[in-house]
Amino acid sequence: MIDETHDPALASWVESANDPASDFPIQNLPFGRFRTSREAPWRIGMAIGDQVLDLQAAALIETQDMNALMSAGPERRRAIRLAASRGLRRGAAQQSRFAAALYPQSKVELGLPCVIGDYTDFYAGIHHATAVGKLMRPDNPLLPNYKWVPIGYHGRASSIVPSGTRFGRPRGQIKPGDAPQPWLAPTRRLDYELELGVFIGTGNALGEAVPIAAAESHVFGLVLLNDWSARDVQAWEYQPLGPFLAKNFATTISPWIVTPEALEPFRAPFERPAGDPPPLPYLDSPENRTRGMFDIALEVWLQTPRMAAPQRLMRSNFRDAYWTIAQLVAHHTVNGCNLQPGDLFGSGTISGPAPDQGGSMLELTAGGKQPLRLSNGETRAFLEDGDTVILRAYCGRQGFRRIGFGDCAGTVLPAREA
Ligand code: MN
Repeated sequence: MIDETHDPALASWVESANDPASDFPIQNLPFGRFRTSREAPWRIGMAIGDQVLDLQAAALIETQDMNALMSAGPERRRAIRLAASRGLRRGAAQQSRFAAALYPQSKVELGLPCVIGDYTDFYAGIHHATAVGKLMRPDNPLLPNYKWVPIGYHGRASSIVPSGTRFGRPRGQIKPGDAPQPWLAPTRRLDYELELGVFIGTGNALGEAVPIAAAESHVFGLVLLNDWSARDVQAWEYQPLGPFLAKNFATTISPWIVTPEALEPFRAPFERPAGDPPPLPYLDSPENRTRGMFDIALEVWLQTPRMAAPQRLMRSNFRDAYWTIAQLVAHHTVNGCNLQPGDLFGSGTISGPAPDQGGSMLELTAGGKQPLRLSNGETRAFLEDGDTVILRAYCGRQGFRRIGFGDCAGTVLPAREA
């Protein structure tokens, strides 16, 4: 599984990739889509340092259809990774051909990485589920199904936007507990949620469950995902069928899909606290137990219009999740539901166990009751107009090169005129 592409001694002739601070060293090689102008078609690229390698111009692929590439499966993806790694290394014979296919990331537009068919948002962050449950049910925070079923809901794909997109504060029905009836207004409790996104590569046929042992072969890779949430709208609308307009006005993802190959050195065991029920057999496998989890450090940063630079609000780790990616895939398909190339899962908000590790503002401010004091003296109970939220993620382990996901950023604009 670990091969020559993971060698920490590899350096690239793209010098920016050798900067230890770069998220995109030659050991990462994530896939995305870019265009050189508003009129130009989207092209498939790979991030290397501060550049994008045009994969077709470098003769590494024959298509500009990312969904087709995703459906081609892990073997094809691994072959492209190996060929790109060899061509981008110092001293590579392909240097001049590849160099002609490079664009500075700052000079192109990075879009959604593929056509996203269906979007499902899970709820795999147990510390988030517990903290949010506590706000509503102090004596019974976690519902009895939580440790048995990977909870999720079907979301909306049309409003998923790439990092950098600005959006207006959404309107919705709001009814504080003591108000006699609701009214329509811009949300006053706008929040973010720190999540990982999982892109499906190869699909499955309707009616055919994906067994957990095969689940990861259906995963093309991971991105960061911000599940923006209007908490006041959510509180009024969510019963009995769950999230709806409180969630579907915008979901931001990072532009680069980090592959399972790039994440291979950062695998971790799947562990449950003593006394928790073991997963049902269809959610269990030896491989899932020994290496089903990924050690991915996650961060939320906030930049208000008055800040000179963004401030980090919290840190957590994907290991804080209660379910692995393989379990999410196996569960989603156990009833025969078919996944398709380009489908996206959200992990659910990944909070850490400590109170200052909340992956949403709802948690960090105890439901808005304890506003955050920011380093420049400002306070925030929820997001204000002009605020930019940036999600970041990276993996580091002794003996391997650190890799990162790049920024997942979004900015809140004032509500549009009604
Ligand atoms: Mn969510």
